[in-house]
Amino acid sequence: MKLIAVALAAALVPLSAAAQAPAANAMTSPATSSTAAPSPTVVNLTHREDRSSFDGSPDNFTGQVRVDTLLKAQAPARASGGSVRFQPGARTAWHTHPLGQTLIVTAGVGRVQFWGGPMREMRPGDVVWIPPGVKHWHGAAPKTSMTHIAIAEEQDGKSVAWLEKVSDAQYGGGAAQGQAPAAGAARPSVAQQSFGDIAPGLAQLTDDVLFGDVWLRPGLSARDRSLVTVSALIAMNRPDQLRGHLARALDNGVTREELIESITHLAFYAGWPSAVTAAGVAKETLPAK
Ligand code: MN
Repeated sequence: MKLIAVALAAALVPLSAAAQAPAANAMTSPATSSTAAPSPTVVNLTHREDRSSFDGSPDNFTGQVRVDTLLKAQAPARASGGSVRFQPGARTAWHTHPLGQTLIVTAGVGRVQFWGGPMREMRPGDVVWIPPGVKHWHGAAPKTSMTHIAIAEEQDGKSVAWLEKVSDAQYGGGAAQGQAPAAGAARPSVAQQSFGDIAPGLAQLTDDVLFGDVWLRPGLSARDRSLVTVSALIAMNRPDQLRGHLARALDNGVTREELIESITHLAFYAGWPSAVTAAGVAKETLPAK
């Protein structure tokens, strides 16, 4: 047995040595490279609390906007970017980027539009490419906050050129493509339809205070509010209310997979029967995969 192993190893040596020769040459070549920058040994890692965070200037934004810096251009690299959170109705002014911009939506429901083009709705997981010099704006939907990561390359130290504000008429001038028309005064709300006749006061409080006030408070995004609400309804075993809130959660940017995962997770906290009831509701409410 030992003999066979030795023989095998001996047979393999010439082959592997020949295969490794070019690789060894390649590994020594950087020594002759012309770039003499010292090679760092410590990883450049920044903590969230050490990066700057600021409100979007009212000169360039409408509404409440918070910018968390993520990356700064480190020459010769020139990409800079941040995570930008727009409260409902908030948006950028019209602007251009000299070398373009990439938007990666991470939460909520947003809107983006090129000058002269249709407004598009964007949701978590969507990635938008803004070509260099194209006049555009981006922001939240009217009733839902939106967060995106924005990355742009700098040219002569600048990554954006600001233009005029997006007027209310331009922003509200039409529903975004792929979006259901907003519930206007002419169309009764879900609360009005469900129990407006028997309990008009409760329906009005539901619309004005719960969804018109509490849900729009800036302390939590609509997506996060949906996740907590859905979790509470699953835990309390309330399939009737869960039905509507699963649909609302999808509207607010929670994915089908995240809702299913929440139900699975909650089986261990809210009890298996509650999770099974919720799974049944999810089966009839969520779109088939
Ligand atoms: Mn932009």
